Amino acid sequence: MNRLIKTYPASVLRHMAKPVDAVDKPLVTLAHDMAETMYLARGIGLAAPQVGESCCLIVADIGEGLLQLFNPRIVAAEGEAAEKEGCLSVPEITLEIRRAARVVVEGLNHEGKPVTVEAEDLLARVLQHEIDHLHGTLIIDRISKAHRQLISGKLKRLRREYQHPEE
Ligand code: ZN
Repeated sequence: MNRLIKTYPASVLRHMAKPVDAVDKPLVTLAHDMAETMYLARGIGLAAPQVGESCCLIVADIGEGLLQLFNPRIVAAEGEAAEKEGCLSVPEITLEIRRAARVVVEGLNHEGKPVTVEAEDLLARVLQHEIDHLHGTLIIDRISKAHRQLISGKLKRLRREYQHPEE
């Protein structure tokens, strides 16, 4: 089922997401819904808070198959790369974000089994972006004050147009 994507400044995007105790049926359904929502929005990653669910779950697909990770955490990171990034929750804004070039992420898969994902380039970027969401961090928090000043008009418009009910 397609879900409504929460956009800035929805408060749920700012909360620390709750770790998952066990990968049960409702969570598998949520992951399925998130994948559908991501594909329909033509995104390459989505975190549960973006559909209003404050739990530690992300999905991603950079064209190499669907990845669903519960309780994902970065256990190693190296290198550095700056690339343009967008976010389905911060529409119409693209920002150059500096991130690690390679990461190792551990989490649980849709069967509740521990998995380790070694990622570089785009997938490394997507995983870092989505894990940021679980900590309440958005791309607009990862730019300089001066840069943020430059997009303040756009952010103001997003705040004005925001109409979703608060969680
Ligand atoms: Zn995002």
